[in-house]
Amino acid sequence: MQIDKFKKIVIKIGSSILIDEKGKPKKKWLKEFAQDIKNLIRKKKQVVIVSSGAIAMGCEYLKIRKNGLKVDKSQAVASIGQIELMDFYKKTFDRNRIKISQILLTLDDTEQRRRSINARRTIDNLLAMGIVPIVNENDTTATTEIKYGDNDRLAARVSQIISADCLILLSDVDGLYTDNPKKNKQTKLIKTVKNIDENIKKYATKTENIYGSGGMKTKIDAAKICQLSGCYMAIANGNYKNPIKEILKNQKCTWFLPRISKLDARKQWIIGSVSPKGEVIIDNGAVKALNNGKSLLPAGVKKINGTFEKGDHILVKDQNNIECARGLTSFSSIEIEKIKGSHSSKIKNILGYSSREEIIHKDDLVKV
Ligand code: GLU
Repeated sequence: MQIDKFKKIVIKIGSSILIDEKGKPKKKWLKEFAQDIKNLIRKKKQVVIVSSGAIAMGCEYLKIRKNGLKVDKSQAVASIGQIELMDFYKKTFDRNRIKISQILLTLDDTEQRRRSINARRTIDNLLAMGIVPIVNENDTTATTEIKYGDNDRLAARVSQIISADCLILLSDVDGLYTDNPKKNKQTKLIKTVKNIDENIKKYATKTENIYGSGGMKTKIDAAKICQLSGCYMAIANGNYKNPIKEILKNQKCTWFLPRISKLDARKQWIIGSVSPKGEVIIDNGAVKALNNGKSLLPAGVKKINGTFEKGDHILVKDQNNIECARGLTSFSSIEIEKIKGSHSSKIKNILGYSSREEIIHKDDLVKV
């Protein structure tokens, strides 16, 4: 992959890359990584870092163990460790004359359109000033139900929101293998992935336990978000000296290629949703209509799963339970339950008030 063609680059750093087994920050590694970033900036690239490590650094500061920490305790620990984490970046990056900023995001910040636009604006302003924003999830306020919990998907969603050209997930293996390389010497590193098909999912399951906290599943989920939002994504080993230089030189990593390149920003945001609130199952006629660029009408809806409100993100699935689109619903799940299967002209009579004709208007709908 030619990095030269990428202008806006997001790099995600997992805790295991930044912090050693004893919980100590890897100073030498970050120093070399800062040189990599400096080189990218010299080449006029804009760089955003998504960094884990707040909880691990907080544990090191308090001299407590990370394993078995309850959610509320880990939130408290994250508030301590986040300062340590940023202090580590600040001192190291200062020496390379790289200016940084801290951005802490919650799931709502990316999933609510207005807030996601705000986040984009802030990040774009920072990049225009030559700053490297360092993003993490706001672990101190996020609760289990409204939490990313892994920075792989957060990094993908940030990449989509800021229209990044590429996301590099630095983990502690070279990429996606066909089998566990620690057990099977014949295993092969997959260089490029166009479609995340059953084979890719099989390899991901086989190699699940060789990856850090997020595992392979969250990396594949991140790749799906990137592919649908026109962003290249790499899973690469961050443990090399000057890891970015190494990836660019030897290309020993797995690249996921984008599937869609021309969606507008709003549609990219719709397709990249990480927390759809429910789903509607539609008949074959409706699938055909969506394929022809039409809106989803109540007549084609067979079934609803989940509870959602008007304006929420929902998935659209065919009768084989295969996802065929995503969109913002114009009706709540309770309303759709009443009007499903009916002609649009009947909506007013059934609900007792007039409203839109479409369950999802074509402007709010993206085919998968
Ligand atoms: N936000 C968490 C932290 O900073 C890390 C989440 C992850 O491991 O991806 O500790």
